Amino acid sequence: MSTAEPQDGAPRVAIDHDLCSGSAHCRDIAPGIFRIRDQRAWLAEDVRPADVDEDLLRQAEVSCPWFAITVSPGDRPGGA
Ligand code: SF4
Repeated sequence: MSTAEPQDGAPRVAIDHDLCSGSAHCRDIAPGIFRIRDQRAWLAEDVRPADVDEDLLRQAEVSCPWFAITVSPGDRPGGA
C-alpha cells in the first residue's frame, strides 16, 4: 500500500498494491503524481497532495481498471 497523508485539507490518496497490475493508466493521466516501479504504481516522492489538482486525482482513480486507487476528501477547515 502506498499512501499520502492529507495536509491542509488535501485529499488522501491510497494505492492498493494487491490490486494494482502496473497498467500505468494513472501515470499516463497524472505523470507528476504517479510513478511505476516494480510493475506497481507509487506516489511520486516529491509530490504533496496539497499541491495537486483533485480533479486529476479523481480522473486517475476512475481510470484504474482494478480499482486500486482510492481518493478520499481531506478535512476542510471549518468542517465543510
Ligand atoms: S491505473 Fe491502477 S492498476 Fe494501473 S498502474 Fe495505476 S493503480 Fe496500478
